[in-house]
Amino acid sequence: MLKKIKCPACQTEGTTSLVELDYIGPYRCWKCRALFTVEIKNDELVSYKALSEDELKKQLQLKELQEKYKKDSQ
Ligand SMILES: [Zn+2]
Repeated sequence: MLKKIKCPACQTEGTTSLVELDYIGPYRCWKCRALFTVEIKNDELVSYKALSEDELKKQLQLKELQEKYKKDSQ
């Protein structure tokens, strides 16, 4: 499913693919390259927060670790 997200920095609409209606995660504007953590509930953008490259890296690393742990524990 593709969800339209309006960039809070430059108001450009972009899309991100969502697996579920609820989503919290990183979004990068294709136009101004701004990074945000967005929260979507029931298909609505309810909040966003600026995200730095470092924070994004940390989040992705954490996710990788969690997925690795899940695989190992199965
Ligand atoms: Zn933007």
